[in-house]
Amino acid sequence: MSNDKSKSLFEKAKEYIPGGVNSPVRAFRAVGGNPLFMKRAKGAYLYDEDDQEYIDLINSWGPMILGHAHPVVEEAVKIALVNSPSFGAPTAREVEMAELICSIVPSVEKVRMVNSGTEATMSAIRVARGYTGRDKIIKMEGCYHGHGDSFLIAAGSGAMTFGTPDSPGVTKGTAKDTLIAPFNSISAVEKIIDENKNEIAAIILEPVVGNMGCVVPQPGYLQGLRTLCDKHSIVLIFDEVMTGFRLALGGAQELYNVKADMTTLGKIIGGGLPVGAYGGKKEIMDYVSPLGPIYQAGTLSGNPLAMAAGLAMLKYLKSNPAVYNQINQTTTKLVEGLRDQIAKAGQKFTINQVGSMFTLFFTDANVIDFDTAKTSDTQKFAIYFQSMLSQGIYLAPSQYEAMFISNAINNVEIDKILKASEQALRQIK
Ligand code: PLP
Repeated sequence: MSNDKSKSLFEKAKEYIPGGVNSPVRAFRAVGGNPLFMKRAKGAYLYDEDDQEYIDLINSWGPMILGHAHPVVEEAVKIALVNSPSFGAPTAREVEMAELICSIVPSVEKVRMVNSGTEATMSAIRVARGYTGRDKIIKMEGCYHGHGDSFLIAAGSGAMTFGTPDSPGVTKGTAKDTLIAPFNSISAVEKIIDENKNEIAAIILEPVVGNMGCVVPQPGYLQGLRTLCDKHSIVLIFDEVMTGFRLALGGAQELYNVKADMTTLGKIIGGGLPVGAYGGKKEIMDYVSPLGPIYQAGTLSGNPLAMAAGLAMLKYLKSNPAVYNQINQTTTKLVEGLRDQIAKAGQKFTINQVGSMFTLFFTDANVIDFDTAKTSDTQKFAIYFQSMLSQGIYLAPSQYEAMFISNAINNVEIDKILKASEQALRQIK
């Protein structure tokens, strides 16, 4: 496979963009080799600048749930574009989007649009702090909530891959207000609450983690957090930037039947365009400016193109619930095939799957938190990744990421992925 154009683009990019990329994980540091520069995509397939074809298992880290360049989304964006891509004034689409989100996500009564997942989580904790009058938050080790200062502490994949979970530039003052508990441990959270009586504003977590690889909440964990938050008047924030509208139409909250006080969203609600949102109980959201005193704003928030794409996507998903069965079944079929094959190859492995998200960890530990995820053999993963890439399968370039399946992936693609995987496993000693 020739990657000449990607190679020369990367060399040039490094002169003008830090590390040659606009988001660190794209640099392929964890797996080695040269990142691929993509030119176009359709359905299940990506095409790079050298015109090589890849089956896409990242799907823009989640949002392309219907595959790439879906006609419904494409058409909606075209119409919005003709009428101007930005007004800086309210639009009907924003109202429709807010109403739709509130009708779908069980706990969201009011919602504010922003431009990224990072903005959504930063805003959500500000609101939780303003609402409770408390400063501290509890975050789970290995969960990633974007690059806001308060979250770059024991953050998963992107930060961890570079060995800098605590980024320089985050002040000690900020870091001291973020308290860390291992994922899936209620007793650790209880201890922190006990040691910080009436000081915790919020508990924030990915209800199903994607950012240390896919990690599943143990039975009773989410409910246990709900109970603790109720008891201590703490705002429970589910960061559903990855899981929202993916694990079920109503996200992880619907799947596990646990309601958060606040929810952060992104990805799918922009249909692939930059977008985020935070929402929750009216009583909390009414603290947000201009109604309440907590300031939060955005020139491009509720952008017409992003709203058009997101609305097209969400309406399609709402009226075609069979999409969820399809992507879940496709993922299960793929995961079962991989399990069979890897066991036969005699590799130590664990595959965690929830719906259409999964991670193949090169460890036989039961991966339930960051410590167990870190027992994975990242060298083996890198060999596997490179072999898959050379056979036209585009995996997430880190052991600590989840894969996302779109409904454009069918049996033909599953067969190709399994065939490539068999070959990749032979490369691993
Ligand atoms: N929260 C979660 C769970 C995420 O996975 C991400 C990004 O992957 C974010 C927040 C940050 O979103 P963004 O990259 O749009 O800022």
